[in-house]
Amino acid sequence: MAIINHRLTAEQYEQNFSDIHPPFETHNAALVDANRCLFCYDAPCTKSCPTSINIPKFIKQITTDNIKGSAHTIFSSNIFGGGCSKVCPVEKLCEGACVYNLMEEEAIPIAKLQRYSTEKAIAQKWKLFERKPSIGKKVAIVGAGPAGLSCAHVLSREGIDVTVYEKESKGGGLMTYGIAAYKVTPQFCEEEVNYITSLGGIDIKYNQALGEQVTLDELRQNYDAVYLGFGVGLARQLEIPGENMEGVVDALQFIYNIRSKQYKEIPVGDKVAVIGLGMTAIDAATQAKRLGAKEVTIVYRRTEAEKPCTDVELDIAKLDGCNLLWLASPKEVIGKEGKVSQLVCSVMSLGEPDASGRRSPIDTGNTLTLEVDMVIKAAGQIPFEQLVTTHQINNNKGRVTIDSNCATNMEGVFAGGDCVNGGKEVVDAVQAGKDGAAAILEYLATNNTN
Ligand code: SF4
Repeated sequence: MAIINHRLTAEQYEQNFSDIHPPFETHNAALVDANRCLFCYDAPCTKSCPTSINIPKFIKQITTDNIKGSAHTIFSSNIFGGGCSKVCPVEKLCEGACVYNLMEEEAIPIAKLQRYSTEKAIAQKWKLFERKPSIGKKVAIVGAGPAGLSCAHVLSREGIDVTVYEKESKGGGLMTYGIAAYKVTPQFCEEEVNYITSLGGIDIKYNQALGEQVTLDELRQNYDAVYLGFGVGLARQLEIPGENMEGVVDALQFIYNIRSKQYKEIPVGDKVAVIGLGMTAIDAATQAKRLGAKEVTIVYRRTEAEKPCTDVELDIAKLDGCNLLWLASPKEVIGKEGKVSQLVCSVMSLGEPDASGRRSPIDTGNTLTLEVDMVIKAAGQIPFEQLVTTHQINNNKGRVTIDSNCATNMEGVFAGGDCVNGGKEVVDAVQAGKDGAAAILEYLATNNTN
């Protein structure tokens, strides 16, 4: 057993990481599905979209060959409408709410139709929005992820000059660095960020981390308002013996490497255990398999009934040949010469429901041992607690605390997205950015910040 790279041929990598949801091949194919839409009054699909995209309207516009209008409808509510069409768990959002489900017929493929319009707009660089002339106000945004750039786009359209401080060398946040490459490619993410900033008035300064290259005090002094959208990103540790051994890696770091290097450069084990069953765990497990791991086992301490991922995500893992080990919780990593060789797990049973409403895992006292050479930790992400505490931002265990107007305890400092809610979907972050922008516009209008 060994952790090595170059396991597959270039063709195999290409095939394994190609788009899992292929787009419509022809305009007619899109029309057929668009024409099935019932254009419901008070559409439940729109109600279940966190950004409230007017779905029947954009689908109707496709049926009348008004693709530009369709893209405008989508982007007016969600400037990340292209990326969201690829990564949103639509089975529990818009498509899950489509009335066709009640008739036990296939839901309208809303995401595929949304992708149809938005990809055209991005590829052909359609200019769908105009920025108002500058009104002489400046806002700093920390984080060029979905929350930050969604906020930036709304503000810039209103004539605010926006500067975004991003700690990475590319924008897009977790969309760019934390999602399986077969769902959304790094190249698309880059094009999407460029499309958003092509509006003008948005200057992204890369490799600028809050608390390192730039401080909150400087931002407050130099700008009329500040929006914090720096997300979460620290991997939750397992806190078990052997965790620091060679061969134990964080899922987000593993995915980050896949998205920022060539596939052939990424080392992966023969036998891999992935700890956790959220979207990041599924993305890590399936990509480990697609990089050529012989055996991937997802270890989860509860049962399928309590899983945090969706059925669709679990199906991807199953179809990729990942094993599932239910009711097992990592207890110790054992190694030979400092390298992982076994994962010892406690065998669990289910007790009473916990605060999440799901039955809680209870240690039975028995153990089982997996022969592995790589362990990927995907037990969740934790907020940047030290960062917010150092900057004296009110927080709850590292999550930035805001009022109903997106305002923090600091005058002129607003926040939203994952750094506030602890980590939700991309589409939730986009809406948070819009809410933050609305609050900032109101603040700038009612406060003399000159
Ligand atoms: Fe169309 Fe389904 Fe939405 Fe109704 S619920 S408007 S049928 S997509």
